[in-house]
Amino acid sequence: MEEEVLDFILDETISDDDDDCQEEGEKSEFSNFSFEELGRLTKDKKFVTYSSQLMPLVKLAHGITCKRKGCKLPLSYCSKSIGSAMLFTWKCSGGHTGGSWYSQPWYHRMLAGNLQLAASLLISGNSYTKVALMFKFAGIAFISNDTFNRVQKMYVVPAVEEYWDEMQHEMFSRLTTETEIHLVGDGRNDSPGYSSQFCTYTLSNAVTKEIIHMEMIDSREVDGKSVNMELLGFERAMKRVMKEDIKIKEITTDAHSSISAKLSKYSIPQNLWTFSIDN
Ligand SMILES: [Zn+2]
Repeated sequence: MEEEVLDFILDETISDDDDDCQEEGEKSEFSNFSFEELGRLTKDKKFVTYSSQLMPLVKLAHGITCKRKGCKLPLSYCSKSIGSAMLFTWKCSGGHTGGSWYSQPWYHRMLAGNLQLAASLLISGNSYTKVALMFKFAGIAFISNDTFNRVQKMYVVPAVEEYWDEMQHEMFSRLTTETEIHLVGDGRNDSPGYSSQFCTYTLSNAVTKEIIHMEMIDSREVDGKSVNMELLGFERAMKRVMKEDIKIKEITTDAHSSISAKLSKYSIPQNLWTFSIDN
């Protein structure tokens, strides 16, 4: 199914006529873009439009004959999709290039809509395959899996990590001034049973519900024994939190014997430890 989706998406060319549409790669029209401009582009309203609606508009704006001096040959227009954007190019039969027009503005070296779609897909917790399938059913051009992965790796993940680090730093500063806090810890595996590959261990504040720290464990770190991932996640998360000057009133975790065996390690009296009965 995924391959079918990708086949649909990858550089689908929609030609308005039989002329070859000139390839145009990603380019930069605005080399000194500011964050204000990025904010404006992000908030700018986008709409679903049809190529059959846009093409007459582009032709109306750029005419039907070549504007080169002495050449009045008719212009031919063609269009192709670049991810979710549409590129129109036109030239005359004498070989004069007329111009090009993109349906999306540029942000650095990326078309802004492609960038925002990739980022929105990830931060809304969706899967590329499912969203791409929805676009396929709706007949809307969409970004490729490669574009999505590139944006995720180069822009979104670093931005999320930077923002999280700032938030956590502020939270720790605040928590050190508070009296005592009640920690709640729990691990969640990517799949049930003994075959999970990843576990996310979370420590949160029971009163404010804020997540204080998260650790991601790969089963390869525990020699493939996925049942041990939660313990490792708990240990790492506690190690991180104990670095801060936070007064702990109580800790609630799952009733794993391996976790309770680690009680003494954190100098927290056993009577402050409570166990969740919901595993
Ligand atoms: Zn011409």
